[in-house]
Amino acid sequence: MAQFGGRLVVGLIGDPVEHSLSPHMHNAAFEALGIEARYELWPTAAADLGARVESLRRLGTLGANVTVPHKQVAIPLLDVISDTARRIGAVNTIVPRDGELHGDNTDAFGFGRSLAEVLAGRVASRALVVGAGGASRAVLASLQEAGFGEIVPVNRTQGKADTLAGSLDGSEWTAILVNPWNALAELAHSVSVLVNATSIGWHGEDLPFDLEVIAALPDDAVVFDLTYRSTALLRAASKRGLKAVDGLPMLVYQGARSFELWTGRTAPVDSMRQAVLAEQARRV
Ligand code: NDP
Repeated sequence: MAQFGGRLVVGLIGDPVEHSLSPHMHNAAFEALGIEARYELWPTAAADLGARVESLRRLGTLGANVTVPHKQVAIPLLDVISDTARRIGAVNTIVPRDGELHGDNTDAFGFGRSLAEVLAGRVASRALVVGAGGASRAVLASLQEAGFGEIVPVNRTQGKADTLAGSLDGSEWTAILVNPWNALAELAHSVSVLVNATSIGWHGEDLPFDLEVIAALPDDAVVFDLTYRSTALLRAASKRGLKAVDGLPMLVYQGARSFELWTGRTAPVDSMRQAVLAEQARRV
């Protein structure tokens, strides 16, 4: 971490950013480790992105997170891009290092940790991923890294899943097989992991697909919803006796990884998790 006389800053670049839980998570981490730093919200319109990214070169800036809609367009503004971020085609973390801006993506790591925690060494081979946006890209990369033999992306707009699969394919041991939306229930019979990577969980009690998909899953399947709240999907999966995991562990682990990239210190994961839970409870 750079030596600096004043308080260090790190921030979230996106539009909008007001809803973010990251300031609570990271400020708790700084406090837990006694680091004189502050995580701020930096709402940034597309026209201001270049200047905002350049400002990260200033002394006293630890780095930044990047969120919607800038995760892809920020890439050409940076000097060095990690292999993971390049494969995913998106950055969510920027670190100034020796005068250069490094772009990384910690979402895949975050999902991977969350997945490993749940599988606890169990071998899973086939995953069904619903959605083909930015989060889905990170999930697919993570599942590939975890050694899944077959990943099946399904998206309402199938062309987006085709594009996504085309840009990620290339691993010898993983087949990425896009399927149509109406095949979901049939596919569910033979998967060990189902991931909802659509944004539907934020909309009240809406389900991303019919409950027959949940009914068709094997008894030992794990259902992930990247939304970090108790969604109708997760409740339906739990009711059926399946393991159901929300997006909170992914959020905390991606944050922990970013924190470690900025500070070089081991992230206080428990403090970060508690801060997120406390802020969520306050918002209800
Ligand atoms: P995007 O906007 O990039 O993608 C949204 C996806 O949802 C698309 O595949 C879209 O399909 C699909 N979708 C939206 N509405 C519907 C609908 N009514 N029916 C079917 N499909 C629909 O979002 P992101 O990929 O960035 O984020 C997805 C989710 O993941 C969000 O809930 C986000 O909060 C969460 N997330 C969680 C993280 C964590 O750390 N836990 C990290 C990042 C994201 P189509 O292409 O057809 O429009």
